[in-house]
Amino acid sequence: MAPAQNLVSSKHVAVIGAGASGLIAARELHREGHTVVVFEREKQVGGLWIYSPKSESDPLGLDPTRPIVHSSVYESLRTNLPRECMGFRDFPFVPCVDDFSRDSRRYPSHREVLAYLQDFAREFKIEEMVRFETEVVRVEPVDGKWRVRSKNSEDEIFDAVVVCSGHYTEPYVAHIPGIKSWPGKQIHSHNYRVPGPFKNEVVVVIGNFASGADISRDVAKVAKEVHVASRGSEASTYEKLSVPTNNLWIHSEIETACDDGSIVFKNGKAVHADTVVYCTGYKYKFPFLETNGYMSIDDNRVEPLYKHVFPPALAPGLSFVGLPGMGIQFVMFEIQSKWVAAVLSGRVTLPAPEKMMEDLIASYAMLEALGIPKRYTHKLGKIQSNYLDWVAEECGCQPVEPWRTQQVDRGYGRLVSNPENYRDEWDDDDLIKEAYEDFASKNLISFLPSYFPKSGR
Ligand code: FAD
Repeated sequence: MAPAQNLVSSKHVAVIGAGASGLIAARELHREGHTVVVFEREKQVGGLWIYSPKSESDPLGLDPTRPIVHSSVYESLRTNLPRECMGFRDFPFVPCVDDFSRDSRRYPSHREVLAYLQDFAREFKIEEMVRFETEVVRVEPVDGKWRVRSKNSEDEIFDAVVVCSGHYTEPYVAHIPGIKSWPGKQIHSHNYRVPGPFKNEVVVVIGNFASGADISRDVAKVAKEVHVASRGSEASTYEKLSVPTNNLWIHSEIETACDDGSIVFKNGKAVHADTVVYCTGYKYKFPFLETNGYMSIDDNRVEPLYKHVFPPALAPGLSFVGLPGMGIQFVMFEIQSKWVAAVLSGRVTLPAPEKMMEDLIASYAMLEALGIPKRYTHKLGKIQSNYLDWVAEECGCQPVEPWRTQQVDRGYGRLVSNPENYRDEWDDDDLIKEAYEDFASKNLISFLPSYFPKSGR
């Protein structure tokens, strides 16, 4: 662990965003004794989990002048992780059994996650720190401090800025050869809300992980046919899935799109499609950030960023919470926030900037040696728990509970093997029990549930 200093100091810190990462960052900074202002462009806390039936005017999100709709949540979305492993550590995401308006399922709907985040904000009085409907348009270093410009207030100077603005808003649109002259409709999952518009259509969905698996099944309820292009599958893949709607096929990747309206897959099959839905992920984007060229985003790698949090030469005044996607999210935000808060107060020190750069260069070299493309720099996958344990040790907090990591691993395993029903059929009651016993032992809950409703509310 980095050496602790004797003198701790309180800083004036701006947090950008009041989604899950901004809320926990605000709490941890406040707990550490800093003064905090959270800038949030929406009217309420919750970020991604604030569902809006509205989508953007450009369905592919390519027009840089389009008005932004932040959320990528679709109407039918339920969490893709079990609730026990999702919640913050001292505020478990457990069912509100006495409140029938809440969704008590183990994999609840997006509304329940929003309600949980609102409960969290209320419990820790975070809303008092938030300036709503205040979009940050520029953040820049000035004489060792940070100037924050927002749309509806004066410029303000802070000791530090913590970026918690999310990274599921800017669509990454996979390139398909021939797509320019393909005559059909195209939409990115960011702008997908409900299946209605796809009634009786032949739809090609690109991507077969969480969103792709969900959206293809959602669309299949009303579409004539749905064909999923799956990159992970072998070139010969062509399989009709046994789903209730009997109209869903899995293919290998797309080979080409043709001007006669057909989409040709690498397995040699061709379909005349009305719409292509891209479930191909998102790009990092921080349009407000001005670092005189020090930071950049290259092939979706935000660089340079020590341990995905601190840009060496600008640390600790600038930091990022929440960059690594997938796996444990809220608890990762929590541990990263504790680290940022402790470094800002001087309780924990960072290595010298040159040392951080050396570490970073070595980590990039490692990715290259392993053949991992640059664009996956912030996808931690199997190494996430090592990463979190490292950050936790750095700031002196408990490592991640093994049951949490095991729930994620087994949950993702079920997602892949049983995308139809993974949210309602599970085989890890042992891990549920462990989680609840853990909560009870820390006096975080007053009951041990005897059952989990598997459907309905
Ligand atoms: P966000 O929730 O996106 O919040 C960012 C906030 O910053 C927003 O409120 C936004 O308005 C604000 N903001 C942005 N720019 C500015 C600006 N310039 N000025 C002021 N405010 C600004 N994770 C799980 O743990 N479980 C799941 O089941 C799960 N499902 C997911 C499903 C989908 C479809 C997606 C896309 C993601 C899912 N995730 C899931 C990951 C999810 O993104 C994280 O769990 C988490 O909610 C992200 O929180 P965040 O605070 O980093 O970002």
